[in-house]
Amino acid sequence: MQPILVKDKRFKVSMPASKIQARVQEVGAQISHDYEGRTPMFISVLTGAFIFAADLVRNVATPSEIAFIRVASYEGTDSTGEVKEVLGLKEDIAGRDVIIVEDIVDTGLTMQELVGLLEKKNPRSIAICSLLVKPDKLQVHDLPIKYRCFDIPNDFILGYGLDYDGLGRELPDIYTLVTE
Ligand code: IMP
Repeated sequence: MQPILVKDKRFKVSMPASKIQARVQEVGAQISHDYEGRTPMFISVLTGAFIFAADLVRNVATPSEIAFIRVASYEGTDSTGEVKEVLGLKEDIAGRDVIIVEDIVDTGLTMQELVGLLEKKNPRSIAICSLLVKPDKLQVHDLPIKYRCFDIPNDFILGYGLDYDGLGRELPDIYTLVTE
């Protein structure tokens, strides 16, 4: 397949939508089994996880709630690992089984800060469900990543919610940056 141009960079499909959808179904079934009778609270991290979260909750059979929060902005192709703000969590999560829905865990620094902030609100449990993990970049090794759809190499990717400078989120497939 021909690479596509997004802003000033070229990307090629590295994971087709059909593969993503099949795996999201599997992970959804696993969550349905693990949380049966418990009404988990999904907390989805905007903006990148919005498409994954929408697909995931529709593949979980047990009743659930979903809230959207916003954390660090991410500019260009380097992760700063700095959580600048956490906005939008109006729901009381005390005593709840929280499942954080994230698009990608890269260094894990964003997730570490987020887990720390949510723990202060006394949930019953916290688990992470990440669409993607870049294991070679992971710096935090004690994150509660209970569910992950795919491990990927260190390359920069976009599509299925993930962006390059705001672009590419709407693409149903996942693309990898072409390095010449
Ligand atoms: P971390 O703090 O290094 O784990 O960064 C996590 C955040 O960086 C994710 O939520 C994404 O928004 C962003 N990110 C990391 N890698 C990529 C990538 O390859 N493409 C697009 N965004 C990425």
